[in-house]
Amino acid sequence: MLLNKLEKKDVSGFADIPNLTWKRNNHYFYNEITYVPDSLDEFNLPGYRYIIGSVFKYFNLLDALPYKGWLQYPNTAILTSKGCNYNCLICGGSKDAYELNCNRKKLVMRSPQRMLEDIALIQRFTRAPIFLLNDIRQGGKEYVDEFLEGLAKMKLKNEIVFELFNYADEKFFESLNKAMPKYSIELTLESADEDIRKYNGKLPCTNAKVIEMLQFTLKHGCAKIDLFFMTGIPNQTYESAMRNVDFCEIIHKECDGSSLISYFVAPLSPFLDPGSPAFENPETYGYKKFCHKLEDFREAMKQPSWKNMLSYETNSMTREEIVKATYDSALKLNEFKYKNHIIAKDVHDEVRLKIEKSVEFLARLDVIETLPPDEKQVELSIIKYEVDHINRHSICGENELKWEVKKLFANIPSLTYIGLELLIKDIIKDIKCKFGKIDRNTVMLTKSQGSKSKSKGVL
Ligand code: SF4
Repeated sequence: MLLNKLEKKDVSGFADIPNLTWKRNNHYFYNEITYVPDSLDEFNLPGYRYIIGSVFKYFNLLDALPYKGWLQYPNTAILTSKGCNYNCLICGGSKDAYELNCNRKKLVMRSPQRMLEDIALIQRFTRAPIFLLNDIRQGGKEYVDEFLEGLAKMKLKNEIVFELFNYADEKFFESLNKAMPKYSIELTLESADEDIRKYNGKLPCTNAKVIEMLQFTLKHGCAKIDLFFMTGIPNQTYESAMRNVDFCEIIHKECDGSSLISYFVAPLSPFLDPGSPAFENPETYGYKKFCHKLEDFREAMKQPSWKNMLSYETNSMTREEIVKATYDSALKLNEFKYKNHIIAKDVHDEVRLKIEKSVEFLARLDVIETLPPDEKQVELSIIKYEVDHINRHSICGENELKWEVKKLFANIPSLTYIGLELLIKDIIKDIKCKFGKIDRNTVMLTKSQGSKSKSKGVL
């Protein structure tokens, strides 16, 4: 709608374009978010077609890369849904947050058909794992069945990675195993304390159920399971954070010492997600908030130490305690992994050194904070290089988070074919455009999606 207007040199203003914030003559306007699509099928999220097409069109590969090191490890992801049926307290993608930030009142899933098309396209250019973001079970049983049946009919070559938000029974893993040659699981457990999990809302089942679920995954051919714990969640004390590692030991034992499970701890950092229940009602959910407005976040981002960047503390831990719990539990986890032969000695030693160095840097940064501005700048630049280097993979080994990839890319003819196909489509589009036939997606607004504009004052 915006492009159409700009193209027509329409000067009537933009008040009729939903979801747009705009400025005219130093007045700024906010058009309410009234366009909330109830299907994700008209969007490509992410737009792999566009990216591959632009690589061939502009002969520029580097600008299109999604992250550093992608060529060595070309992971891909598909956004399976927008919105969430859950309402985890700390999540900016929760039910409440979606409603507040995006006016989305209910979850919408990408259709199984479009997901299968996405996967078919991805495996034409890479053999790396495809991460399905969000739990596909939110779409319901029929949705999952249709998707898995479609996958089973494909000649799937890539590993598929699934995220789980809650307990899954044995049948689910059986069907994953039947539908594809290789799959992995991502599980953010957050805490080993059942009460904390229940309170926060993520994986609110018992620890016995968590272990049972992991045993099912292993029984049914799962290639890798990543288990994440977190520090900085409500009601979590230092002792509770340390108990996370004890739970890793229990899981390891109960799962026959499987090397397919990888364990991680990470802080909820640096910010509480705006829109999350905890951000909107910090006192109710056990938080003290330090950052309220955008400017507060901008200021916090300038802090050299992540401790001072943290935008919150909890009812059970100060910022110092969150940092200490993070590093101490990471050290304990590192020992557990080494003792149980999950990581090699060189990885163990490297991780330990990095954690110890990080703790030392934080102490140095606290001292630097007290120096006069000139001296502070000098000292900061001295340790910047070291901090950057150490912080890169400070609390787990560099390769622990990666899925095993035997072959990175599809073969050259397949890549060339897909590039040419997209390039030709693009050339046809350009020619049509030159003759005034603009081939642009049309957004159809219902009456209730029409825009309501508000003037928000003068800049
Ligand atoms: S953490 Fe996951 S399950 Fe919980 S609200 Fe956020 S997206 Fe949903």
